Amino acid sequence: MKLSGFRGGIHPQERKERTEQLPIVRLPMPKRLYVPLQQHIGEPAVARVTAGQRVKRGELIGGSVEWLSAPVHAPADGTVVAVSEFASPHPAALPVTTAIIEVSDKQTPWTVPDEDPFGLSPEELALRIRQAGIVGMGGATFPSAVKLDLARKQGVDTLIINGGECEPYLTCDDRLMRERGQQIVTGVALMLRCLEARRAVIVVEDNKAEALATLRELCLSQDHIKTVSVPTRYPQGSQKQMIQSVLGREIPAGAHATDLGVVMHNVATAYAVYEALVDGKPLVSRIVTVGGGAIPSPANLEVPLGTLVEDLLAYCGLEDESYERLLVGGPMMGQWLPHGRVPVIKGSSGIIALSEAETRVEMPRPCIRCSRCVGVCPSGLLPLELASRIRKEQFVAASALGLEDCIACGSCAYVCPSKIPLVQYFHYGKGQLQARQAQQKKIDKTADLASSKEQRLALIEAQKAAAAAQRKREAAAKAALASAATATQNEGD
Ligand code: SF4
Ligand code: SF4
Repeated sequence: MKLSGFRGGIHPQERKERTEQLPIVRLPMPKRLYVPLQQHIGEPAVARVTAGQRVKRGELIGGSVEWLSAPVHAPADGTVVAVSEFASPHPAALPVTTAIIEVSDKQTPWTVPDEDPFGLSPEELALRIRQAGIVGMGGATFPSAVKLDLARKQGVDTLIINGGECEPYLTCDDRLMRERGQQIVTGVALMLRCLEARRAVIVVEDNKAEALATLRELCLSQDHIKTVSVPTRYPQGSQKQMIQSVLGREIPAGAHATDLGVVMHNVATAYAVYEALVDGKPLVSRIVTVGGGAIPSPANLEVPLGTLVEDLLAYCGLEDESYERLLVGGPMMGQWLPHGRVPVIKGSSGIIALSEAETRVEMPRPCIRCSRCVGVCPSGLLPLELASRIRKEQFVAASALGLEDCIACGSCAYVCPSKIPLVQYFHYGKGQLQARQAQQKKIDKTADLASSKEQRLALIEAQKAAAAAQRKREAAAKAALASAATATQNEGD
């Protein structure tokens, strides 16, 4: 396959050496799990359990009532002690409805389904994937069944499986590909069937030679699944960049990958599809890299969803809060966490606790117009101009310069010699634009309501006038009749 590469990009320090050789270890089951009903993009799941109720591993505890949503299942046997607000893995630890489960000592074994998933129709496969609560495991958390269904209806021909894992520190996908490659390939074959697409391409960066060799070997027996090695470069794992890199197809602004006949899923999502359809296990756990300079014993852990981040840190030897910064996801695109009393959710690929040496922040200096930020931007933007517009609160002008096309990859800020926090400007600018758009929508809706009220009133007035005219006509006709009758009578007299 001839590679096209993508525009811009950087080579940040990989910092994967402390965990890339560590096999996946299953975390001992915690005593309590905090399972949020919102772990995905879309509407939150609706609680199907109440406090005091006993639940079995894999039982539905949150049902999806909307199309764009995903159900949530109990990761362990136990008793629901509360369904209440609890901090989520968000920079402000925003509270969300959470099922808190006291875990039992004994766990029910999984029941393997006796149906052959390869005998199911594409619609049935999508339904099973939906029922298993599978979402994009690379961090996007978009409900996978919705994505597969839409892509099939649009007739996509290519499924890209993202094994890039270009973020520093993270090695969970690398370990998954090395250790559970067969399950991933089977999951890809099932997704391909669900999509009715022509081919799948598993894309792996060339810094993961063992993962690539494992998958390449496994794909020899697959006619429609191929592997491809791409040069290691950040942000290769972003959808637009990976599709451009592998297929040479550039997604225009405002368009979707499916418009170009392509859909992309993560390797961990393919693994989750395998577990759901072959092992009968809904999405109740995931592999998480616990790393960063502040972690004494980093690890790749298989973690039940709902485990507290502080439990993971303690397992890896960090009992107190002796870190400088805590992140969920990678250091480039991940989110800061204010503390570790938040749960691991479906999209949590990494928990990174950085030391002081890793977070030293220099004071920003004025822009020297060196244009290094322009050279590395994978979206072809002018970060210095964007930041300048946003600083002046000129959000519409920033939008005209392509602010919405910024994928917040942080490449520009990484290379900026003046240490300008460019991505923070972009987050702020996008937030302002969204707030204004929401405000405008509200104004338009109010105007629409007012205009329809006016129309309704005008209609009532018109109906009243018509009725009055009708009454007048009827009265006149009646009077004319009465007068004619009187005249006839007089003539007769
Ligand atoms: S890299 Fe930094 S200093 Fe250079 S032009 Fe961009 S914003 Fe200015
Ligand atoms: S953060 Fe945005 S502007 Fe900066 S390099 Fe990435 S896409 Fe370009």
